[in-house]
Amino acid sequence: MFALLPYAMRNETMPDPSPTPAAIFFDLDDTLLDDHAASSAGLRTLMDRLGHPEFTAARRLWDVQTDISFNAYIDGRLTLAEQRRERVRALASQAGHPDLPDEHCDELYQLYLRSHREAWRSFPDVAPVLGELAAAGVRLGVITNGIESFQHDKLAVLDITHHFHTIVCADTARVAKPDPQIFHTACRHLDVDPGRCWHIGDQLRADALGAVAAGLRPVLLDRHARHHGQNDIATISGLDELLPMSGNGEDRPRPAMEQARSIGSPDSAAAPPSGQPPAPQDGVTAGGPADPEPQ
Ligand SMILES: [Mg+2]
Repeated sequence: MFALLPYAMRNETMPDPSPTPAAIFFDLDDTLLDDHAASSAGLRTLMDRLGHPEFTAARRLWDVQTDISFNAYIDGRLTLAEQRRERVRALASQAGHPDLPDEHCDELYQLYLRSHREAWRSFPDVAPVLGELAAAGVRLGVITNGIESFQHDKLAVLDITHHFHTIVCADTARVAKPDPQIFHTACRHLDVDPGRCWHIGDQLRADALGAVAAGLRPVLLDRHARHHGQNDIATISGLDELLPMSGNGEDRPRPAMEQARSIGSPDSAAAPPSGQPPAPQDGVTAGGPADPEPQ
């Protein structure tokens, strides 16, 4: 049994983890599945229906409005349906259609979801790397802030569910990254100490700093060079870089303990308290643009 307090709270330095991980956990959206492309597909469907001509402006508005509306849902000020309508209505207003009725917003959002789902694709390095790690005897898991029903569907569509020994989702775990509890839940499922686990994800705060606070080795996946030079976390540009890292123990990360301390703090507002809905998918990062895509 391992201690549940994050290292930062115990005024200790993070222990040197084993260079060979006993288990590796992965974030899902924009780590295994190209969620940014899927949300863009959904957005283009909405733009077609609304006659919206300018993707860059639409994408910027959609991301900002998603952040605002989903946080209002997290805070209990909007229902799930209301936050969806608010996002669609903002896009419609930008396209010159203010005051869209609720029913129309709901119909449009269903179209968005359908296009989003049809665009679910894994990144090309996902299947081969998962296969090699599993063949090497490394146990694998998923830790995601997404909604369980959607996330299981995504893994099934990507045909990678069989690689994972546990899939921990924020809504059913009742806690979201970067809260250490969700990482510890995943470790308990595999009966492994956090210090022998790695967590791979694309979000600096939710994934990398969350893992640090929980005592796991973080590896930041930066496919689009968003985080270059912004942190001292071990960073990779593709999952294939995990294979040599797991074999030779090089490139050990130097955790950003000051940032992790705020995550590990008991008064942190980063994750919703038990009983509240989870944070938007991977939330807003501390080191790059937001790419939340709640559903
Ligand atoms: Mg992600």
